Amino acid sequence: MNGFGGTTLRINLATGDIRREPTSEKMAREWMGARGFVSKILYEEVPRDADPLGPDNIFIMAPGVLTGSFAPAGSKIGFGCISPATNGHADSSMGGHLGPELKYAGYDYIILEKIASEPSYIYIDNDTVEIRPAGDYWGMGSLDLEARMKTDLGEEFQIATIGPAGENGVVFSCISHDFGRQAGRCGVGAVMGSKKIKAIAVRGTKSLPVYDIEKHTQLTYDIIQRTKTHPNMAPWQKYGTSFFVGWSNERGCFPTKNFQTTYFNGWEHIDGERFVKDCVVTDKACFGCWMNCGKYAVARIPGKPDAYLEGPEYETLALIGGNCAMTDINHVAYANYLCDNLGIDTMSGGASVALGMECYQKGLITKDDLEGHELRWGNIDDFEHFTRMIVEKRGIGAAFSRGTKRAADHIGGDAPKFISQAKGMEFSGYDTRWYPSQLLSFCTADIGAHHNRSWAITADLELGRETIEGKAAVVIYLQHIRPLFDSWSCCRLFWGELDITPEEHVESINCLTGWDLTIEEAYRISEKIWNLTRAHYIERNGGPGRDHDQAPIRHLEEPVPDGPAQGKMVGRENFERLLDDYYKNRGWAKNGNPTREILEDLGLGFAADNLEKIGQLGAPIPGGIPAVRGQKLKPKAM
Ligand code: SF4
Repeated sequence: MNGFGGTTLRINLATGDIRREPTSEKMAREWMGARGFVSKILYEEVPRDADPLGPDNIFIMAPGVLTGSFAPAGSKIGFGCISPATNGHADSSMGGHLGPELKYAGYDYIILEKIASEPSYIYIDNDTVEIRPAGDYWGMGSLDLEARMKTDLGEEFQIATIGPAGENGVVFSCISHDFGRQAGRCGVGAVMGSKKIKAIAVRGTKSLPVYDIEKHTQLTYDIIQRTKTHPNMAPWQKYGTSFFVGWSNERGCFPTKNFQTTYFNGWEHIDGERFVKDCVVTDKACFGCWMNCGKYAVARIPGKPDAYLEGPEYETLALIGGNCAMTDINHVAYANYLCDNLGIDTMSGGASVALGMECYQKGLITKDDLEGHELRWGNIDDFEHFTRMIVEKRGIGAAFSRGTKRAADHIGGDAPKFISQAKGMEFSGYDTRWYPSQLLSFCTADIGAHHNRSWAITADLELGRETIEGKAAVVIYLQHIRPLFDSWSCCRLFWGELDITPEEHVESINCLTGWDLTIEEAYRISEKIWNLTRAHYIERNGGPGRDHDQAPIRHLEEPVPDGPAQGKMVGRENFERLLDDYYKNRGWAKNGNPTREILEDLGLGFAADNLEKIGQLGAPIPGGIPAVRGQKLKPKAM
């Protein structure tokens, strides 16, 4: 089959049974890979009452249609499972080189079922697939383990690892690869750890069949020539995403001191300029990328060993830097290294420590809760101690290891007013009080508050930050187009920053596979995936969906106290209007549940039947579903 490895793997960890099947061409055409495959497989295979960290959850690893091809940055791979953070569909992607390697070994997705009887790792060398003991590796840090396994197996193996956090079931544990690429969100590392799988090592040396190799390569060659001189190329190559710190502060959306405010005095100490000057060692790129936004760096702090890492990127600079009030770039980089090696997502990890710092500031937790330590803003030693308490689930750290929502409920008092999360997943690095589209994006996202689902900050800037009208339709468009790249498994930055069009990606897919995909069909597949994961979430968590889309109190009731966004706040009335518009534009009922009309229109009649059985099918919309869902708007680059 052109464009694909041709085989799928299903590994039962309890029995050791390893089964191979040919990849279904129909499935590939209808779901396109990675996130698309994950949404379909999870919906069909995981019992609705399965414990995310129990034996009935499954763990999927899937590259997409463009992974490993000559398409621009076809570098990504998706991981899927039911999330221990949200109890809904989870998918999280990473770049690097693992996805292409897996395809070159001949595999389009791997499903891990049940739980191994002992710590293990999955070994794949082309047709050789084994479950191997990993007792010697258990307890090691993610980065340390990757280096060790490269020594043990050979440099040519591409390796995904988890750290101690994944072993301990911390719900925001990540999977690490390539010494700094992470599938960070949704707690996919915790599910891998719950299956007692410490690592997945892959070597693939087969070729990938291509339908029209000359045209496929020519397309990318032309794009390379065109984008070499794009004005965004130089800053991205120099700074990666780190230059965005200043941009975000100026526009009043930089999370500061646990989202208490949105402008960080001292931001210039952790901005791109300072990062490049003090920490960056060299550039780094994923497979097939010529933008090399990755920055290999070193953190130097007197009294601590030098720490080498990739990053920090913008999200880390926001959620560990501003949000924990760190004014030294070496401290942020060290905290980034710590999170990477322990195996937690820097976004949810930073948000968790920041919540702890605010609770400490306001007397809701004390030294007695912190083993005699403090938890002061901007203090790297306090950050390290508390992070280790979380990862090792010591004392109050155990409550924080379950995410900020559960931690705040555990602490009580005003703590639930301090959290910024949706569906159990912490906000990415943007305060939304002046950005209604971004607030709506976070709250309606199927996996919880993650910017990769819809990054609408520039849409708010373009359409007016005070405006409510027309925002919901734009968010829907962004929710369809951005996740497309997760199914295609190529880097969305080439679209967002270098103006490569989705139509060019579709052409590349057709040259690779011989398909006759159109952009309209691709949008429709993305909308189908979105509706399926919505139905899945409601089937697992009950309804109505509107209850699950509610915004954090701080973002509705607490005006920004200072900075460029001083006095700004979306407010409850406006937020409810946004939700009303959003559901109407999606063809969902006012209570946020999908209707039979929209589900059948997208070929998901089975999901309508299932929602009906549990009394959660949305009531038909007067006048029927909208013919066009979403309003196209290509946000300006950063
Ligand atoms: S732009 Fe950055 S994230 Fe995207 S493929 Fe290149 S190095 Fe990876």
